[in-house]
Amino acid sequence: MMHQDSGIAGITGKAFIITGGQRGIGFAFACSLLKAGAKVGVLDLPEKPDTAFESVQKEYQDGCFYSRADVTDQQSLYGALETLSRSLGGIDGCVTAAGICIDKPFEEHTWIDFQKQSSVNGAGTFFTVQWVVERLKKAGKPGSILMIASQAARHVCPGHLLAAYASSKGGVLAFARNLAVELAGNGIRVNTISPGYIATEMNLSLARQRPELHEIFQNAPPLKRMGTVDDLIGGLLYLLSDSASYLTGVDLPIDGGMCVSV
Ligand code: NDP
Repeated sequence: MMHQDSGIAGITGKAFIITGGQRGIGFAFACSLLKAGAKVGVLDLPEKPDTAFESVQKEYQDGCFYSRADVTDQQSLYGALETLSRSLGGIDGCVTAAGICIDKPFEEHTWIDFQKQSSVNGAGTFFTVQWVVERLKKAGKPGSILMIASQAARHVCPGHLLAAYASSKGGVLAFARNLAVELAGNGIRVNTISPGYIATEMNLSLARQRPELHEIFQNAPPLKRMGTVDDLIGGLLYLLSDSASYLTGVDLPIDGGMCVSV
């Protein structure tokens, strides 16, 4: 009888680009991909990645690369994607995790607040994926694209003021569904995950500004706790892997049950 090897099908030996991957969800995902035997190229805002990322880079040497980029700046984004793709020796897909979130009453949102969220969460995702897809098509390769959307795009939690953020993430969901159909003939799968409240700097900094958010983070999910980055890893790896090879255009909510209760 044949035994499968211990690697994750369609992950081991592949190369993925991760945006916003030097901290939070993107960083956790970069680490899990490296552990699963993939190579990763991470782009993010800081000139130099932080010490946690640097120690992972030391451990994985020629499997883990970093390039500074702002996903809202075309030149900066394409430059980093090119550098990473060369270092990786080609790519098999990407994870778009770069994102920002502004929690504010609707009436107080400025033009700049709205634009910032649309350009990082929306345009940054759109153009990263466009670049990656072009490369996959040129190489005649199948591929797997995973975008991080948000439960905020589908469900409203009273007290959390995310009108503009939710509209940018709703765009990501619609974008992914359309792309899944457009690219299916090329063997390129496109899926999203919609995390609930995950304990990363994004939420912790929002709660420093409005401490009442702690209560929402803990109690809104039926499972009555905030999620951790580890809660997301299984779903992320599954969607990216060949185990999900008959699955495209799907959104996986990982949100402690908020998707069915809020
Ligand atoms: P973090 O703020 O911890 O990480 C986001 C990363 O994106 C940071 O490294 C940040 O860089 C980077 N980033 C921000 N703007 C840009 C830019 N213009 N160009 C390149 N990189 C950029 O957030 P999370 O890890 O929590 O979030 C990851 C993704 O998951 C986001 O898209 C978020 O919207 C989504 N999400 C998160 C949830 C949560 O509860 N945490 C829930 C639902 C969705 P820097 O560190 O320099 O700011």
